[in-house]
Amino acid sequence: MTPHWTLAERAAKMNPSVIREILKVTERPGIISFAGGLPSSKTFPVAEFEAACAKVLSKDPSGALQYAASEGYGPLRELVAEQLGRQSAAAGVPWKVDPAQVLITTGSQQGLDLVAKILIDAGSRVLVESPTYLGAVMAFTPMEPTVVSVASDDEGLDMADLASKTPDARFLYVLPNFQNPTGRTMNEARRAALAAHAQATGLPIMEDNPYGDLWFEQAPAAPLTARNPEGGIYLGSFSKVLAPGLRMGFIVAPKAVYPKLLQAKQAADLHSPSFNQRLIFEVMQDGFLDRHVPTIRALYKGQRDAMLASLAQHFPQGGNPDDTLTWNTPAGGMFLWARLPAGMNAVDLLPHAVDKGVAFVPGAPFYAGQGDARAMRLSFVTPSVEEIQRGVAALAQAIAEQRGR
Ligand code: PMP
Repeated sequence: MTPHWTLAERAAKMNPSVIREILKVTERPGIISFAGGLPSSKTFPVAEFEAACAKVLSKDPSGALQYAASEGYGPLRELVAEQLGRQSAAAGVPWKVDPAQVLITTGSQQGLDLVAKILIDAGSRVLVESPTYLGAVMAFTPMEPTVVSVASDDEGLDMADLASKTPDARFLYVLPNFQNPTGRTMNEARRAALAAHAQATGLPIMEDNPYGDLWFEQAPAAPLTARNPEGGIYLGSFSKVLAPGLRMGFIVAPKAVYPKLLQAKQAADLHSPSFNQRLIFEVMQDGFLDRHVPTIRALYKGQRDAMLASLAQHFPQGGNPDDTLTWNTPAGGMFLWARLPAGMNAVDLLPHAVDKGVAFVPGAPFYAGQGDARAMRLSFVTPSVEEIQRGVAALAQAIAEQRGR
């Protein structure tokens, strides 16, 4: 008999990432890619990891290679708690993070999955920014939520729209720092208002912060969770400051939900790799990040500046913003957000841009609701300054030709 595989209904709801599909056209050799979301491999501290591998294996080989506690490696949980407390205090909001509230995860992407599993029922209302991180919506989707877009501007959420959508929402998913995809950052006033709103209404907040350390001018304002620790789940990642291939991240969760997250974690993968957790600990423990992260900031800032300068050269501003490309100036992170002239569509432009030798990600798929067809995400992190200049020139040519048609 032929096997009859019957897929679960939730499997039917899973879709290949629209972006991955779109990016297939961009994988041609020689294409300058503003499309990828990859950190620059120039920033990976290879020598430090090499030394840490030897140290981890000589110090406690059986610990590093054995099954371990689902919560994560104790010394790493302590380091995470200490670092978050220090950063938050420096930003003016003391946050006493108890290492017992830290759960080490297999990338922060796993954090999104675990939170979805414990907080979302079919039909639960989940609030997101507009646009938002597509990978989060993909993690939520199998739990069958109703994803509700909250109107957002350059500083993040529109508070009036949020207030109208808050009743019955399970949680709000928000990226206050150098958001993926827009690169925008929530200012202090908006954070204070959001924290006050969450406290007044009881709306739980899921704060995703993989890019917060990658600031270019000044450190961002204190996390939302620091202002209301019992009402927030905070997601962090080592992907953008050390290396994504290790798949290491963490959750800081209040007592009300930590035990359930831990059970979900146990069921998902028992624990994150013991070896990788110890590697990260060894690399971090003497304050390495305080020396290393500034080098990443300097590299990415130089590349952001190159992209801004090239954009300004090829797309003179000052006239009607509907007649040319416009863009924002992210204060950190990996992406900037641009908008095509009126009447143009980023999905239609992409194959033409690829023919000219440059790729980007169309912005519309990042919206849970109606997307902006003119929006596009440009990563300034992986190409060199020279490639950024050539890529923007190619983009300008593609736009001019497409408009002329
Ligand atoms: N959240 C956001 C906003 C991201 O951009 C990413 C990576 N693209 C993740 C979470 C997941 O990161 P990781 O699993 O590597 O920690």
